Amino acid sequence: MRHVILVRYGEISLKGLNRNYFIDLLAKNIRHALSHLESVKVRKVQGRIIVDIDDDELEEGLDRVTRVFGVVSVSPAVVIDSEWEVIETTLEEMIKPLEFETFRISARRANKNFPIHSDDIARKLGGTVLRAKEDVKVNLHEPEITFQVEVREETYLYFETIPGPGGLPVGCSGKTGLLLSGGIDSPVAGYMMAKRGLKPVAIYFHAFPYTSDRAKEKVITLARILSKYTGGFKLYVVPFTDLQLEIIENCPERQITILIRRYMARIAEEIARKEKLGSLTTGESLGQVASQTQESLLVTNEAADLPVFRPLIGLDKQEIVEIAQRIGTFETSILPYEDCCTIFVPKHPDTRPKLDLIKKSEEKIKDKADELIKKAVKDSEIIKIKPADA
Ligand code: ATP
Ligand code: MG
Repeated sequence: MRHVILVRYGEISLKGLNRNYFIDLLAKNIRHALSHLESVKVRKVQGRIIVDIDDDELEEGLDRVTRVFGVVSVSPAVVIDSEWEVIETTLEEMIKPLEFETFRISARRANKNFPIHSDDIARKLGGTVLRAKEDVKVNLHEPEITFQVEVREETYLYFETIPGPGGLPVGCSGKTGLLLSGGIDSPVAGYMMAKRGLKPVAIYFHAFPYTSDRAKEKVITLARILSKYTGGFKLYVVPFTDLQLEIIENCPERQITILIRRYMARIAEEIARKEKLGSLTTGESLGQVASQTQESLLVTNEAADLPVFRPLIGLDKQEIVEIAQRIGTFETSILPYEDCCTIFVPKHPDTRPKLDLIKKSEEKIKDKADELIKKAVKDSEIIKIKPADA
């Protein structure tokens, strides 16, 4: 008896997108998500993707496939010959360990050479279950368990449907520069934009020795966890110390946070040009800190040409924490290693920065800063993040 995972994708998500491109990309992403499992083969059939997988790898396979964006639901199924006796005895075996009081059989005969019609398959198999199990009843409307039988060239038999994450296959919307700090918010932001089909290129600003190597390791760990959902991606570790010190030594203290944001955006845009990124993504949420007021975001945006996506903008911290817990980044995010922005936080940050004053400060350090931006990009360490390492 062979096992497969039946993968369903949403028809709605196909709107406006080239259908075959979408399905091929989804199949490719599933293949990548399962590449560490030896028995796996991924193939397309009419309206579905099928993953052939050995029994002993099934659990791990299900765990991975149900993280792939674009997957609406999956069912672990057994594959058997399309012969009546085989179908009947397999179903009998299948129900043995299960406890239920009400059930229904849902049968579909796609293979018209099979001699029994769908309705009759359902009725006959209903009888099989009633004979094999005491005290169970048929309930067509609200059954506890539904046994599904799909008779094709081969027959699929299953009773479980596990929801997937939905969304669009990662990559179908292009690539985004994800500003990834070690905090709670930015990994969640990356997750949410990946759900809309954006592949991240992560960018971390590292202010060594003010931020330690442990802080960097934490970001790498977060990136690996995120890659279980997005597939592998590049992480730029940008040396940020010199530029940060240049700002701190020459500009008014209350402007430091917003100036740092603007230079982060500029460096991210340099990387975006190199990597052909169509947007930037941050974990900002309105009103959370001084740099996340409308006025501050206006001034930050002015430094960037690309659209800046902020998927958390309308979420409360608690809502963000819940997503972080669900996707598995929270525990790592709360490890206490310092962040470059928290080390240099001014006592009284400007919550309503004025663009002209900010520009005046930048004018003073322009030549040096331009040079440091180029140097930071050039000296960035590029780490290949792989989901298998998570
Ligand atoms: P997070 O929890 O994501 O760190 P936060 O609530 O601490 O966010 P800030 O520190 O103000 O908020 O950062 C806002 C956003 O700016 C972050 O979500 C992230 O996208 C980006 N960012 C901040 N610091 C860094 C950094 N060192 N490297 C890369 N991006 C950063
Ligand atoms: Mg932070």
